[in-house]
Amino acid sequence: GSSMKILLGKPVADKITQELITEVNKLKEKCVTPKLTIVRVGNKEDDMAYQRGAIKRCESIGIQVDVKAFDDDIDEIEFIDGLKNINEDKSVNGILVLRPLPKHIDEDKIKNIINPNKDVDCLNTINLGKLLEGDKSGFAPCTPTAVMEILKYYEIPVESKNVVVIGRSTVVGKPISILLLNKNATVTICHSKTEDLESITREADILIAAVGKAKMINKSFIKEDAIVIDVGINVDEDGNLCGDVDFEDCKDKAAMITPVPRGVGSVTTSILAKHVVNAAKIQ
Ligand code: NDP
Repeated sequence: GSSMKILLGKPVADKITQELITEVNKLKEKCVTPKLTIVRVGNKEDDMAYQRGAIKRCESIGIQVDVKAFDDDIDEIEFIDGLKNINEDKSVNGILVLRPLPKHIDEDKIKNIINPNKDVDCLNTINLGKLLEGDKSGFAPCTPTAVMEILKYYEIPVESKNVVVIGRSTVVGKPISILLLNKNATVTICHSKTEDLESITREADILIAAVGKAKMINKSFIKEDAIVIDVGINVDEDGNLCGDVDFEDCKDKAAMITPVPRGVGSVTTSILAKHVVNAAKIQ
């Protein structure tokens, strides 16, 4: 469309950050400083990059951040013990475990160790259950919440819209779909076994890509004037960061589109910070 608009993450993140600074100042008057502990296993570059972003964001708000890094080859029992200690530490309000964990650590064995009230990225089954029930007292995962915040900030209505989500992971695709459904969108969820994906995505008023395949979504997947939200973070053949959407190919056909980088990913850490502040309030 001619009134094409690039949906940048920064103004969304800035607004949330400003609101949080005010809230943290109020908490500090009551001698409460919210604290996040980031739990990392190994030194994967993805994890390091996310950690840097989270620390920068939290510190700009006045949230204290602690990093507990474990060796790549730590055994599962030792890791579980370490995580239990962090969970029991009363000074820790929020816990973020960087995922995916190495293969020898079973996520299913660790997810429910985290106290649901400290579980700022929704690992715990209780928080996933609350998400499903539309119970706002829990924590929804950060990236799906970032998508909802972008839609809200740019005043994009979702009620009664046809929204197609590509991807059904427990961290991204499924929770985004539930959050949208809870806001009265008509949601279609696609995945690797979906037949004739293009014919489904072309019906979408809002298309959300959470696939993990560099530039897979080109303009033949979208309808004229669709709103395109790209959750993917990939590296293209030239070694540059890119989304699941071929931005250059889609940008003229879409009414609105998020870029990668500078889109959804730049909002995620502000949601994390918001959850840590909320965790400090409920504890
Ligand atoms: P997963 O690999 O866990 O899930 C990918 C999903 O895409 C699966 O449901 C899979 O289907 C589906 N899929 C794969 N190939 C196709 C295809 N050809 N056609 C249709 N569906 C397909 O990835 P995540 O959900 O963890 O992450 C998705 C993307 O989001 C990644 O690029 C990741 O880097 C990014 N991400 C971004 C974050 C941010 O802050 N912006 C945070 C977290 C992730 P099936 O279930 O059948 O296998």
